[in-house]
Amino acid sequence: MHLLIMGAPGSGKGTCAVELKNHYSIPHISTGDIFRKAISDKTTTGLLAQSYIDKGQLVPDEITNQIVKERLSEKDCQKGFLLDGFPRNLEQAKALSNILNELNIKLDAAINLEIEDKIVEERIVNRRICSKCGRGYNIISLKPKIEGICDVCGGSLYQRKDDTKETIEERLHIYNNQTKPIITYYNELGILVSVNSNQTPQKVIEDIINQVNSNDNI
Ligand code: AMP
Repeated sequence: MHLLIMGAPGSGKGTCAVELKNHYSIPHISTGDIFRKAISDKTTTGLLAQSYIDKGQLVPDEITNQIVKERLSEKDCQKGFLLDGFPRNLEQAKALSNILNELNIKLDAAINLEIEDKIVEERIVNRRICSKCGRGYNIISLKPKIEGICDVCGGSLYQRKDDTKETIEERLHIYNNQTKPIITYYNELGILVSVNSNQTPQKVIEDIINQVNSNDNI
């Protein structure tokens, strides 16, 4: 199964990705995670990406498209993948179509998580993520049993550096202006699966799997 998941920052992409990756036994490829790893490894790409990420801006397309092309060319992606956080604008969506054509891979579904801006703002500032398994928590609405510790794997929880009030506005602005138009792009390709993300994580995942499995194009 070759899938991508899109939605505003804080719409629950990461949480769904962890479950979908296990459900379909496919690699989870998050461009945000790739950049965060490059930053912690202090690579040239990481240092360059950091200046954009800290401001809540998009890393330039040339860099991002290249990273995705290299990762999707790896052998484990032939059988399937879940792309998370890419594409984020129309140029990236077209670049992805070209990359997949070259690799002879057909995208099965583009999952779109629908949610209102005011809900994601609250979610982002209270979001915590497991440093080990990537599971998402919320210190108000989805607290871990033990503060700062992942319920599932015992990893320590951290707050992303760009999950601040200051960057949220910029990230939502970019999402609404640059990322939203790709919903139409995938709708026209007939592979769009839209799900209401303002529900419990279990219900959101159930809705995604039901819709992906009943999509005639798959
Ligand atoms: P995410 O974890 O998906 O929210 O991504 C964190 C940050 O990484 C974003 O705010 C961007 O600065 C950068 N980033 C991730 N994916 C992309 C992409 N497809 N294009 C450009 N920048 C990206």
